[in-house]
Amino acid sequence: DGSVKQILVSGITLGDDFLSMLVDITAQKKIENELIAAKEKAEESEKLKTAFLANMSHEIRTPMNGILGFAELLKTPSLSGEKRKKFIRIITDSGERMLATINAIIEISKIETKQVVPNISKVNINELLQSQLNFFLPEAHKKEIKLSLTNSSLTEVFSLFTDYAMLNSILTNLINNAIKYTNSGTITFGYLKKENSLEFFVKDTGIGIPKKVQKTIFERFTRVDHESTKAIEGSGLGLSITKAYVELLKGTIWVKSEEGVGSQFNFSLPIKS
Ligand code: ADP
Repeated sequence: DGSVKQILVSGITLGDDFLSMLVDITAQKKIENELIAAKEKAEESEKLKTAFLANMSHEIRTPMNGILGFAELLKTPSLSGEKRKKFIRIITDSGERMLATINAIIEISKIETKQVVPNISKVNINELLQSQLNFFLPEAHKKEIKLSLTNSSLTEVFSLFTDYAMLNSILTNLINNAIKYTNSGTITFGYLKKENSLEFFVKDTGIGIPKKVQKTIFERFTRVDHESTKAIEGSGLGLSITKAYVELLKGTIWVKSEEGVGSQFNFSLPIKS
């Protein structure tokens, strides 16, 4: 009958409209959500940029104040030879610290703009590790730290297709940190061969890293806010560059650490067949 048909037809019409309306609302909601997410992301990245600039300015301003302050003091005519030497050393140290920070910032910006590309060649891992050991032995000796390369790394001569300079820099950063954050004790480093990767490690018996900081330790400018760390110079940029290098080499990096016991940094690099 006509009235029923009308209802049915309008039911169908209503259904279609309703559906398309629902689709419209869903699409609109999706766009809105995407816009909100994009805005939040932009705000977050803006915040990170501002924090980065603030941190960077601080890292440059602190040694700069040292340089200017002590240069001013050097003008004092009655200054003893000993004091003069001391002030010049402070100026040199501050200049070196500033240069290291600036170099790290330049490297970070090059990594971010994808200007750092791995230069792959066949690298003799044992030779590289041995040269790291030779380089750091005097520094470790000064702090009465026993630095050694594990035997397992030496039993087999191993080559890896990787970027020599990047791998060297990753190890330098990790061993340098291990020495910096260990007062006395032992540091061992080396690698283990896994099925498809080489797993490198640098293990120390130093001050350790609190659990809650371990997740963020690879982010730029992150430093442990601790009395013993404050006294040690550093900008908190090294590990973020180290992580970026590991990732450029298609690897992963992680840390296990316990405060007052020590830290172990591991990174694995794929073995390409
Ligand atoms: P930097 O050493 O210049 O501050 P890094 O990015 O290399 O910067 O390290 C970030 C922070 O991680 C350090 O300030 C320190 O607090 C902590 N850290 C890194 N390596 C170690 C380690 N081996 N033992 C204890 N703390 C460490």
